[in-house]
Amino acid sequence: MTSSAQRLSCVVLGAGLMGRLLAWQLARAGHAVTLYEAGGSDAQGSPARIAAAMLAPLAESAITEPGVVEMGRHALARWPELLAQLSQPVFFQQEGTLILWHRQDAAEATRFARQLQATHEKMPALPKLQSLDAAGVDRLEPSLGKRFAQGLYLPGEGQLDNRQLLAALLHELQTSKVNLHWNSPREPQDFQPGATGQSDWVFDCRGLGARAQWAQLRGVRGEVARLHAPEVHLSRPTRLIHPRYPIYIAPKQDHVFVIGATEIESDDLSPPSVRSTLELLSAAYSVHTGFAEARILEIAAQCRPTLPDNLPAIRHLGPRVLQINGLYRHGFMISPALLDVVLALVRGERSPLLASFNLTVETLQN
Ligand SMILES: Cc1cc2nc3c(=O)[nH]c(=O)nc-3n(C[C@H](O)[C@H](O)[C@H](O)COP(=O)(O)OP(=O)(O)OC[C@H]3O[C@@H](n4cnc5c(N)ncnc54)[C@H](O)[C@@H]3O)c2cc1C
Repeated sequence: MTSSAQRLSCVVLGAGLMGRLLAWQLARAGHAVTLYEAGGSDAQGSPARIAAAMLAPLAESAITEPGVVEMGRHALARWPELLAQLSQPVFFQQEGTLILWHRQDAAEATRFARQLQATHEKMPALPKLQSLDAAGVDRLEPSLGKRFAQGLYLPGEGQLDNRQLLAALLHELQTSKVNLHWNSPREPQDFQPGATGQSDWVFDCRGLGARAQWAQLRGVRGEVARLHAPEVHLSRPTRLIHPRYPIYIAPKQDHVFVIGATEIESDDLSPPSVRSTLELLSAAYSVHTGFAEARILEIAAQCRPTLPDNLPAIRHLGPRVLQINGLYRHGFMISPALLDVVLALVRGERSPLLASFNLTVETLQN
């Protein structure tokens, strides 16, 4: 708890992933926090609600920059600490990522493995990827049978349960006296931090809701199926390399599986089409035939808040108005890193983490 002299009054806009996490940690640090969310407390308007919540820095290095990979490494150490501070349990595991492909896609897999090896050479602190033969795949995931002759194993990677996390964070916000305003959209201009009777800080964590102030933001649509599949036994997130239907399967507790694929450059929030659902579920069935008898709990789509370089950014919109955005497909993998950088700024410190994450905190010039 900070002393009363340091007790700041903070407004957080947006109760998706970043806003919930930040509001909770600011309240834990002893600050007075008011949170405004455009939707309800169930996070229906946030991609975090449907996300797979995989924490896979090496796997993601194929499509992102070393700074984001480093943030992912940071998160794998930080999530257990953060989750231990919650009063409700949140499923977290670090059993690695399994990468599979069908024989005909071996060339694509070789290219992918080379990319990851190049990452490893640049960042040797990452656990080394391991090539698997059929017996190796079988040892890791016996229920796949002998259908995969090869695979890659990325030790140390993790995942958590996104819905348990959002619910546990909500519980903390409710019990830590954060002033909560649901169904209450706000803009940063609604506040004048530092003025008499106003808050000390405003933190804008509105994702795509911040587009009026951050015109370069765009939506990248993702579609997922949530299945209950008692016949499928997978112990870790599994990705299928495929030229047209690459998918990931994230096994949560109690045989619930989050299966996703598509990345579409679009702000379309309409439900997934029959065609894309068929492709998604067929690809999942090609990994494990046990999905045939699975029950579909949900098919959903959402858009990830994304900046032109697909990298996250923190910037001052004005004095003591901080925007945190562009979390793209990595929100769970990078939010602890962004959180720690922002908490240091609030303490008046420049975090040494900024350099390792290759992040700068810009100030918007009007
Ligand atoms: C299909 C899919 C799979 C994903 N899988 C993963 C994964 O495996 N690993 C991973 O790390 N990440 C994953 N992600 C990405 C992750 O979900 C996002 O990066 C993350 O949710 C972004 O968090 P955010 O808090 O910045 O924004 P959001 O979660 O979008 O939250 C923004 C919040 O602001 C609210 N808001 C908007 N306008 C206003 C306003 N005017 N006033 C107040 N509130 C407002 C919104 O209602 C929303 O609740 C996935 C995303 C999708 C769609």
